[in-house]
Formats: sequence, C-alpha cells, structure tokens
Amino acid sequence: ERSRLARLRHTPAVTLDGERIELLANIELPEDAEPALESGAAGVGLFRSEFLFMGRGDNLPDEEEQYNAYRRAVEGMKGLPVTIRTVDIGADKPLEGMTPSELRHESVLNPALGLRAIRWSLSEPSMFRRQLRALYRAAAHGPVKVLIPMLGSLQEIRQTLEQIHHVQRQLTESGKVWAPCELGAMIEVPAAAMTLPLFLRHFDFLSIGTNDLIQYTLAIDRADEAVAHLYDPWHPAVLQLLANTIAQARAAGKGVSVCGEMAGDPAFTELLLGMGLRSFSMHPTQVASVKQRVLRVDTRRMQAIVPDVLSADEPEQACQQLLSSMGASL
Ligand code: PEP
Ligand code: MG
Repeated sequence: ERSRLARLRHTPAVTLDGERIELLANIELPEDAEPALESGAAGVGLFRSEFLFMGRGDNLPDEEEQYNAYRRAVEGMKGLPVTIRTVDIGADKPLEGMTPSELRHESVLNPALGLRAIRWSLSEPSMFRRQLRALYRAAAHGPVKVLIPMLGSLQEIRQTLEQIHHVQRQLTESGKVWAPCELGAMIEVPAAAMTLPLFLRHFDFLSIGTNDLIQYTLAIDRADEAVAHLYDPWHPAVLQLLANTIAQARAAGKGVSVCGEMAGDPAFTELLLGMGLRSFSMHPTQVASVKQRVLRVDTRRMQAIVPDVLSADEPEQACQQLLSSMGASL
C-alpha cells in the first residue's frame, strides 16, 4: 500500500471528468519544504509562520532571520508557489509571555476569543511590519503569497492593508529588493464567512481554515475534553458555510482553498470537490491518500449530491446522505 501511494507522487491530480485539482502542503518550518516536495504537493498552501516565533523566549526572530527563513522555504520549493501566513500567535499557540499584550493574553478566560493572530499583529505594529518586510523581500525569490489569519471585520482589513502599504513604501524608499505578491484572507471566523463580498473585494484569494471555522461556528473548544466530542465537521451549519464560501469565491473568479484538517481527510474529498473546491492544503503525509480519492471522483456527480447533504438536519444524516448517494451514483 505504501509503495503504491509513493508511486502516486508523480501522477497528476486530475478527476475522472478531467478537473485539475491542486494538492498543496501545510508546513511549519523552512526545512519542511523537503517532505512537502517529496509528497508530490504542487506547492505550499499554508506555511504557519508562528512556529518561527514559538519557544524562543524573548529572542524573537528579527527581519533578517525571518527573511532568510521565508527565502529558504521558497527556494526549497523550487519554483512552486508558497503561501506564507502571518503569525497566528495566541490561543493554542502562545509565546512565552514577554510583551504586555502577551501577558494580557495569559490572563483571559477564553484565549481562542482573545488577542490572537491578526489581532495580535495589529496590536504589535512594529513586529507586524518586521514580518511583512521579510515576506515581501522573500517574494523577490519566488512565487510567494501572503495570507492573513483570523480577520473578521472591515476595520481589521483596513488596518492590515494600511500596514502593508506602509511597509511597501518603506521598502521602496530604502532601496530594498522586494516584490509585490498575491494577498489572501483566511476564512475561519463565522463573521468573515457571512460577509464574503467584503473579503472578495479586498483580497486576491481565500483560504478556509476549517479547524477554527468549526470551533467558532459550533462554539466548541476542541482543547476542552468535556465538549470535544461535540466538535463535528459534518454539522450542517459548518457544511453550509463551507459550500457558500467556495461558491461565492468561484463566482467572483477568486482562488479558494481549504487548509484545515478537513482538506487532508479523505472522508471529505468527494464532498469538497462536489462543493466546487479545486485546491486543498494538508499535511504532506496526507497528499497521496487524498490524491487517490481525487483520481476516482467525477466532480459532476458529486455536485449533484451536495444539495441533499446540505439539507441534512444533523451531522450523522449529512454523512449518511453522502455515503448513500455516492453508493447510488456508482
Ligand atoms: C484552521 O483554523 O483551519 C487553520 C488552518 O489554522 P490553524 O489550524 O493554524 O489555526
Ligand atoms: Mg486557524
């Protein structure tokens, strides 16, 4: 089985009806580019840059160190696109407290609802600008895309764009080598999924973070064992948000991908393809098994099944509906 999956590495991810599917890798450090390439991924769909910042005490990476790390990842991917997400510090990924905002984070009751990701970056503008400078400099070395986590409002979008424009002016004025690149927004807060036109207006592409989108839609803290069993990607509310986000992005002609755990779980491959998803980003070890599914799918058949799955009243029913319709359509 393992060698059969390994042989899939060079097989293009194309469905039975000829749809080309982009299978990308999620990475945490520049050296992960190697397993990502080996997996046969067509690029990096999510570089979680916060891993460069974690476990560092107060010795956070400066602009040069970040630039070198991003550049290494880009060069490691040998010309394939690399989507780098600005830090998602906070909640389940805390820094060892050193800045005032971090200390505040330690003291709140619901860190997942607190100062994390873009909120943290906007509260630490010099840190945010340092990261943005490193990213746009690294973009001069290959196809980088910049991705912003946890956005939920126009206010945050505006503040983020202001910082980006500021940094780009700064780089130009100081004569640094840099390149503009595509800018994307994570859709992982229900507020964002409910106000998509705003995001489609301001960003080049969307990336759906199902891990957080599920947690926030269902109000289930996955880290809380007492309720973890209620965390369910099959919940109709989650499926409807997903289907709607994919459909709206496609209608607007913008790229959309899923980079949460659902993307790497073969149980969801057919359903996501049926919803119109053509780009999946996952742990490198999952690429082959998702590709195996992709090769056997007729997306038009799946598309016809989706309305029934979306109209289910509860998770089990949605899952059963998918399985029985798939059985019937074989
Ligand atoms: C997500 O929320 O689905 C996601 C990809 O981001 P992270 O898991 O890093 O929070
Ligand atoms: Mg997330």
